[in-house]
Amino acid sequence: MKALQYVTVGAEPEVREIPTPEPGPGEVLLKVTAAGVCHSDDFVMSLPAEAFTYPLPLTLGHEGAGTVAALGDGVRGLDLGTSVVVYGPWGCGTCWFCAQGLENYCSRAAELGIYPPGLGAPGAIAEYLIVDSSRHLVPIGDLDPVATVPLTDAGLTPYHAIKRSLSKLRPGSWAVVIGSGGLGHVAIQLLRHLSPARVVALDVSDDKLEFAKSVGAHEAVLSNPQAADNVRKITGAAGASLVLDFVGYQPTIDIAMAVAGVDSDVTIVGIGDGKSAARIGFGVSPYEATATAPYWGARSELIELIDLAHEGVLDIAVERFALDDAPEAYRRLAAGTLRGRAVIVP
Ligand code: NAD
Ligand code: ZN
Ligand code: ZN
Repeated sequence: MKALQYVTVGAEPEVREIPTPEPGPGEVLLKVTAAGVCHSDDFVMSLPAEAFTYPLPLTLGHEGAGTVAALGDGVRGLDLGTSVVVYGPWGCGTCWFCAQGLENYCSRAAELGIYPPGLGAPGAIAEYLIVDSSRHLVPIGDLDPVATVPLTDAGLTPYHAIKRSLSKLRPGSWAVVIGSGGLGHVAIQLLRHLSPARVVALDVSDDKLEFAKSVGAHEAVLSNPQAADNVRKITGAAGASLVLDFVGYQPTIDIAMAVAGVDSDVTIVGIGDGKSAARIGFGVSPYEATATAPYWGARSELIELIDLAHEGVLDIAVERFALDDAPEAYRRLAAGTLRGRAVIVP
């Protein structure tokens, strides 16, 4: 089968012919219908050799959708041909976090060598994908897999981040979304659907600001050295109740902290350079403001998101690429010229 693989540290990923895998005991083989391209892959591929810990070559893609093509021994309750999406942050399934459905915070994954597809285990940008357990599949019925696959990360990550702060979002409050790309454009829609807050979006070009408004942002502001002042003019002295930073470099974290209000949540989702940080302290940050950096989301939350998708309230912007053109999708991602999510359709 064909797969997009990261082969050499520092080089572009390549489309290669590799053996089609067979499901072992407990595993499920999917025929991939769609696979999303996430900025985190770009971060992973920017790591120098000494910091890159996954085995190479690595098949990319941690947002996956497919139809059930074969079942390993012992898999029950799943029919061949079922259309599913993949819950990506695989855990052990039995520790305290996993028992809550929070496999993204599995306390034993590292010790057991369990990695998400595309981030250690073979990923979804391929003709076929092995999923380690039927527990990690959510049936999507007649939803379009191409428009639905981004929900597994570009949807799930903001959904988890927003849900934990919903109590802060009251009528009259403001939420700020920094970075209106793959995750950000879903975050804006989730904020509008789940909360009464008004939404200010930030990005670096007028095109992106127009895009943010088209998916529901009330206001849009260029992300530049004046951004915090310009956001403050909109929110007034109260500032924002929730700031979601989908970029995560020092300049955007500084904007996030500067627009945050008293008793707000500042949620840093973007990886940035992997080193930037928010400063919290008396006189440094707003009273009772909390800063956090979450990772992905819970299994139950992906099920909720798929239910939301069935209601037709989400409009996920996707740009489709054939598997042979997957390297181009990554170039467009790095150049910042995608509108919404790039999705590879094998
Ligand atoms: P993306 O490339 O689709 O979107 C990023 C957006 O930010 C683009 O619209 C870009 O124009 C904009 N941007 C860039 N610099 C900016 C700046 N200085 N100010 C404002 N906007 C700016 O990326 P994505 O796939 O949506 O991922 C967003 C970030 O979230 C990445 O850092 C990614 O690694 C990270 N991520 C984290 C998690 C997690 O679990 N914490 C999960 C998925 C992705
Ligand atoms: Zn991701
Ligand atoms: Zn676990």
